[in-house]
Amino acid sequence: MAPKIPAFKHTPAEAIPGIVERVRKTFLAGKTRPVEFRLVQLRKLYWGIKDNTDLLTEACKRDLGKPAYETYLSEVGWVMNDIVFMQNNLEKWAKDESPPDIPLMNKGLKPRIRKDPLGTTLVIGAYNFPVQLSIGPLIGAIAAGCTAILKPSESAPNAAAVMEMIIKKYLDPSCYQVIQGAVPETTALLDEKWDKIFYTGGEKVGTIVAKKAAETLTPVTLELGGRNPAIITKSADPRLAARRLLWAKVHNAGQVCVSQNWILIDKEVLPAFIKELEKALKEFYPKGVKASEDYARIVNQRQFLRLKGMLDNSRGRILLGGTMDESELFLEPTVVQVDDVNDPLVVEESFGPLIPVFPVNDLDEAIRLANSVHDTPLGLYPFGNKQETDKVLANVRSGGASVNDGFFHASIPTLQFGGVGTSGSGSYRGRASFEAFTHRRSITTTPGWLESLLSIRYPPYHGKLAQF
Ligand code: NAD
Repeated sequence: MAPKIPAFKHTPAEAIPGIVERVRKTFLAGKTRPVEFRLVQLRKLYWGIKDNTDLLTEACKRDLGKPAYETYLSEVGWVMNDIVFMQNNLEKWAKDESPPDIPLMNKGLKPRIRKDPLGTTLVIGAYNFPVQLSIGPLIGAIAAGCTAILKPSESAPNAAAVMEMIIKKYLDPSCYQVIQGAVPETTALLDEKWDKIFYTGGEKVGTIVAKKAAETLTPVTLELGGRNPAIITKSADPRLAARRLLWAKVHNAGQVCVSQNWILIDKEVLPAFIKELEKALKEFYPKGVKASEDYARIVNQRQFLRLKGMLDNSRGRILLGGTMDESELFLEPTVVQVDDVNDPLVVEESFGPLIPVFPVNDLDEAIRLANSVHDTPLGLYPFGNKQETDKVLANVRSGGASVNDGFFHASIPTLQFGGVGTSGSGSYRGRASFEAFTHRRSITTTPGWLESLLSIRYPPYHGKLAQF
C-alpha cells in the first residue's frame, strides 16, 4: 500500500505575520545560538528525513513522476548527506577565526572574526527538486543558528506537505516553520522584515524578491535560472559527449536548472554525435522511454504546454524523439537541429527534455554565439581538449562549469554552488551553506595597557604628522 501523504493546505495569509513574529522572538531570545542546540536540530532533521524516506519518495513520484533512484540520489540521500557533512564540521566552522595578515602593531587588539547568525530568515524553494532545494538551504540556516521559515514550491504539493509534516514533528516549532502557498502567500512573506532571504527559482520572480528585499536592505541569496550552453569541439569524443549530455537532460526529465539549454557543436562532429545520442537513448531505455520506470514526467500541464509551445514555435528540425502524451505529462527527450540564435529553443530556458543542437564552424563562433545569447549562464559545459576547454572557460562566464561533462560539478556536496550575474548571486552547499546564513563579525579588544601608545590618535594633532 502506498504511504499516506498529508493534504497540502495553503497557510491563511492573515496567520503569516504572527508566525513570523513568533520565530523572530525566538531568535532574539537567543534560543538558536548555542551550537549544541543547532546540532540537535540537525540530527532531528536527519531522522525526520530518514524515517520518512518512503513518504518523500512517493511524494516526488506523485509530483514529478520521479523514479525512486533519482529521488534518492538528488533529494533524500542528497540532503541526508549534506546534514551529516554539516554536523561533522559545524563546531569547527562556528569557532572564532583569527584573521591572517594582521599587521604586527595591531596584534595586541586580538582581532578575531565571530560567526554570528544573521537572524530570522526566509527560504523559498523551487519545484524541480522540491526536497533538495528547500531542505538544502534550511540546513544552512539551522547550522548558522538562524530561525527560519520555509516556503516550498506549491507546484510540488505532495513534497511540500510531507516536508511540513516532518518539520512540525521533528524540529522546534518556535524556531522553524513552514508556510504553504503560492503567489499571495509568498507576497505576504516578502512584506515581512527578514534578516536574510534565500530564493531559488526563475529570474523573473528573483527580480521581484530582490526588489522587495532592497526596500529593507535585506541580504539575499538568489539561485536562478539557466540557459546554459554546452560546447562540443571537433576534438571531443562524440560518444562521451552524447552519453553525458543525454544524462543531463533525462535526469528529472530535464527539469534541472543546471542542465544544458543548448549544444553548440562543430559541424564536423555533429553526425557522429547524433548517432551516439540515438545509441545512448536505446541503452538508457531499452524498452522505450515512455514504458520505462526510470524517466520522470513534466511537473504539471502548464509546464507541459509551455514546452510543447516551444517546440511548436521552433523553426528547428526534429532529429530524435518528439513524441508526447499530455494525459501523462510525458515528453520524450527531443533533439532538434536549430540554425537561428533567435529560435525559442535557444532564447528561452526550456527546463525540460528538449535538446537543441546548433552547428558551428569553429570554437570561436561557438564562444561568440554563447556569449551573445546569455553572458552569465548558471552552468557551462565545454567538451574538447584541454586547450579548447580552457579557452571556453576563459571566454564565457558562468556560475559553475563541468569540463567534458553535464552539470556534474553541482553534485559534489562540499563544493559551493551558485550563479553569477543574472543566474544568481551568493552560493551554498557544504561550508558555503553555513556562510550564507552567517555574519562574519570582526571584533577587536583594546587592552588598557595600550593607552600610552594610542595617545598618537588623540588631538591635539600638532607635530604628530611628522612621526609618519
Ligand atoms: P518560480 O520562480 O516560478 O517559483 C519559485 C518560487 O517562487 C515558488 O516557491 C513560488 O511560489 C514563488 N513565486 C512564484 N511566483 C511568485 C511571485 N510572483 N511572487 C513571489 N513569489 C513567487 O520557479 P519554479 O518554476 O519553481 O522553478 C523554475 C525556475 O527555477 C527555472 O528558471 C530554474 O532554472 C530555476 N531554478 C534554479 C535553481 C538554482 O539552484 N539556481 C534550482 C532550481 C530551479
